[in-house]
Amino acid sequence: MTALPPGSTIGIIGSGQLGRMIGMAAAQLGYRIHVYAPETGPANDVAFTHSRGAYDDIAALTAFAAQVDIVTYEFENIAAAPIAALGDKVRPSPRSLEIAQDRVNEKRFVEALGGRPARWAEVADRAALDAAIATVGCPAVLKTTRFGYDGKGQARLMSAADADAAWDAIGGGPAILEAFVDFEAEFSIVLARGVDGAQVRYPPPANVHKDGILDTSTVPATQLEPWRAEAEALAAKVADALDHVGVLTLEFFCGPDGAVFNEMAPRVHNSGHWTIEGAETSQFENHVRAIAGLPLGSIALTAGGVTMTNLIGDDVDHWPTLIAEPHAHLHLYGKREARPGRKMGHVTRVKR
Ligand code: AMP
Repeated sequence: MTALPPGSTIGIIGSGQLGRMIGMAAAQLGYRIHVYAPETGPANDVAFTHSRGAYDDIAALTAFAAQVDIVTYEFENIAAAPIAALGDKVRPSPRSLEIAQDRVNEKRFVEALGGRPARWAEVADRAALDAAIATVGCPAVLKTTRFGYDGKGQARLMSAADADAAWDAIGGGPAILEAFVDFEAEFSIVLARGVDGAQVRYPPPANVHKDGILDTSTVPATQLEPWRAEAEALAAKVADALDHVGVLTLEFFCGPDGAVFNEMAPRVHNSGHWTIEGAETSQFENHVRAIAGLPLGSIALTAGGVTMTNLIGDDVDHWPTLIAEPHAHLHLYGKREARPGRKMGHVTRVKR
């Protein structure tokens, strides 16, 4: 494809903070953004215009796509078929969405490329859960196959006696049971892949979660070196096999069993927010560059060390202190109500 000329419009499906930050990067490169979502959100504040519609309303999606030059999406919990109906304007392609939005699909896909998830089994119904416990063992985590995020749709089982409670906790639907990994650290590979297949991979951040939600991401993380090459090679292979265009994120646990694949997201990722100040080209700009057919930008670090800390729920009340802190970069997403577990913003601290 020829490069998307400045002044063109990028359509973003989804109105969250990821769309907001993609939009800010797009604006820097001279593009306009048009947000499509059922409700307004953080991305609308930086959008040229928006369309309201359901994620499965093909007529409304088609009308939206006709008004933009390319379409991207900022989250994966949407049906792939209506997005596929928009044709090759969509980047990353709906195939990335189809694989990454379903835990069974993503594990099978990654296994076929030589990746190693934790021991797992498919759980189609309550009876299958007992069989899965027998093969996977406990402790284990029961996760809904689709629509899980930030630890939602998950329940821990310490023993087979927890099966009923776990099944009820996830709402009793298609799921997987996954062995609990006693990891030393968690990390992610955030990469961007261009239309021409070129890739850049950011240095992996060490990610710390609290209550299933990302708390901090820190770079550089030299403790990850023993696992980095294996994880990067797998991520590169997954991106090529999907013919992915845009940013792709793979999350890993690391421990004595090597780099254990956890999950992937066909999009910019919370564990890549540090790149706004910490890398020469942010994940958001590289996503825009990739989908617009532009050359990818350098992922070199701009500082000796960077830590991104999420502001979840009431954490955002500390903004007056954070804004006064030297070398801290405050990002607020403009959400009015600080509900528990809601991502309200983040702060990036840069060590020179
Ligand atoms: P997920 O949404 O699957 O990434 O899970 C959210 C977080 O829960 C992960 O980042 C881990 O901190 C924790 N977690 C999920 N699955 C497992 C597992 N199999 N073993 C240990 N911890 C897990």
